[in-house]
Amino acid sequence: MGLDRFPRHPLTFGPSPLEPLPRLSAHLGGTVELWAKREDCNSGLAFGGNKIRKLEYLVPDILASGADTLVSIGGVQSNHTRQVAAVAAKLGLKCVLVQGSWVDWPDAVYDRVGNIQLSRVMGAEVVFSQEDFSIAIKGSWQAALETVKARGGKPYAIPAGASDHPLGGLGYAGFAQELERQERDLGFRFDVILTASGSASTQAGMIAGFKASGRARDVLGIDITARPADTRAMVLKIARQTAEQIGAPAIEPDDVALDEAYAYPRYGIPSAETLAAIRLGAQVEGLVTDPVYEGKSLQALIDKVRAGVFEPGARVLYVHLGGVPALSAYAALFR
Ligand SMILES: *Cc1c(COP(=O)(O)O)cnc(C)c1O
Repeated sequence: MGLDRFPRHPLTFGPSPLEPLPRLSAHLGGTVELWAKREDCNSGLAFGGNKIRKLEYLVPDILASGADTLVSIGGVQSNHTRQVAAVAAKLGLKCVLVQGSWVDWPDAVYDRVGNIQLSRVMGAEVVFSQEDFSIAIKGSWQAALETVKARGGKPYAIPAGASDHPLGGLGYAGFAQELERQERDLGFRFDVILTASGSASTQAGMIAGFKASGRARDVLGIDITARPADTRAMVLKIARQTAEQIGAPAIEPDDVALDEAYAYPRYGIPSAETLAAIRLGAQVEGLVTDPVYEGKSLQALIDKVRAGVFEPGARVLYVHLGGVPALSAYAALFR
């Protein structure tokens, strides 16, 4: 596949582990076989996660640009900005993070613990912005870039989630290759690959990566933004770009399977069902998830198994993309 012509700067431990979830499978009736792919422990960089895998393909471009400061944006509890801070530290670069008010969550320590605490520990400069949720380029982000230049620095801009970037989809195209190698060793293929979808390049990269083997629609995205039309459009855009880059067959709108039913009540706010899913995964498998992303995709997994959506005997892979550092910012929910 044409992915090999893109340089990759290793930041992960190697292939992320596959883990069977026999107790959760049995708890839900034992009709399907549930597994997890542990992207949440893919790297030693500040607890890892899916943005680290994407950034492996951005780093060669960052280094070639001669930049001395990474500039990125996310919500106050963004996992992405924490992973950018870790990569900056690892590369010996400075880091400026714009943290937008994307989530209105009243926990007293929301802007002090979890991801933002880790970013500060790693030496990133954290700037708060009052602008609300969007995956578009923000005024405050432009201002941060200008500030770096005014100080004589050379910024490198990384968009929200490292998604809407020319190299943003390559990491998860690589994930598809990696999983297909692991499947060959196991001697079977997963029937469904379930993943949370937000800024979209995770699902998009997977779709592009699996397209050549006819499995694009086996990737089931779970929207967590509560703006599914935007998410779907971004998945399609990035999947097309990535497929072209790696020489995969062209992507059709029909290749994008995105379930809109679990993002409620809104981005960054868990429902009672999300919290029940977080507790169930944690209590029967020690599988810890967060209220923003993985708790919602785990909720989707559990709900679909219970509803009999998957064929009996199906092997369903839950892709755990990280995000656990945000959990302490939601401490009030678990008192
Ligand atoms: C960013 C993130 C997602 C969503 O991935 P996208 O590539 O933005 O769609 C899901 N889970 C976690 C934990 C994340 O940090």
